Amino acid sequence: MSGEVCSVADPSPLSGKTDVRLSLVHLYADLMNLYGDRGNITALRRRCEWRGIDLELQEISLGERFTPRECDLFFFGGGQDREQVTVSRDLAGANGEAIIEAVSEGAGLLSVCGGYQLLCRYFRTSEGEDIPGVGLFDAYTVGGPTRFVGNVVAERLDGDEVRTLVGFENHSGRTHLGPGLQALGRVVVGHGNNGEDSSEGAVHRNAIGTYLHGPVLPKNPWLADRLIHAGLTRRYGTDAILETLDDSSEQRAHESVARTVRRAGNVRTSIR
Ligand code: GLN
Repeated sequence: MSGEVCSVADPSPLSGKTDVRLSLVHLYADLMNLYGDRGNITALRRRCEWRGIDLELQEISLGERFTPRECDLFFFGGGQDREQVTVSRDLAGANGEAIIEAVSEGAGLLSVCGGYQLLCRYFRTSEGEDIPGVGLFDAYTVGGPTRFVGNVVAERLDGDEVRTLVGFENHSGRTHLGPGLQALGRVVVGHGNNGEDSSEGAVHRNAIGTYLHGPVLPKNPWLADRLIHAGLTRRYGTDAILETLDDSSEQRAHESVARTVRRAGNVRTSIR
């Protein structure tokens, strides 16, 4: 990316506005951060900066609260079962409700692996312990006998366009989506939600759950822009049009990873 500074594009009602800002809450950043998940924050920050958008970051941990109305974006990274138990207790209070409230009002959210599991209804570990979730996603997770570890390629049909997602998974939990919940994508290589039904991740309003570490946003800039768009639309109450960035180097990296993984992995049939 060239790093050119630009503002939100014409003909968005935001164009010409000089103090465009977004607030991002990083949930339990000290406990839930695996395999470079924090890089997702860097990607969001940089893609905002390049467009002249100021991203204000608030990290919250156990016992700390935030005001849902002031939050445009959330990030919730991965974590091991032990940390998930601790965080689950805290989420059972005001924070779980506040996340649901903000998402119902249009806030964007990205949750990865352990964070994603905690936003589903529950996670039953392989030891049979139930870790309650927030229930934002109508889905549940059950710990499996083996871990799903490796590179993933998934595809998502967006209108007529096939979007590719690349990333890295490492989880024992198998997540099963409720009947009305849309998957983020369809697995082409790897396991995704449960290794059975080809689904990867979940989407509810502007909230995304995924098993993809990597971190996922630098590897899939279109997903980062989808979140930024959701955040701007929530804050400014208008369908923001994002300035197109020169993503040629990101795109080359993305395509090279996708090619390598497809070549090495057991490719299931692709969407097209
Ligand atoms: N503990 C969860 C599992 O293994 C989540 C791990 C993770 O966040 N990578 O399923």
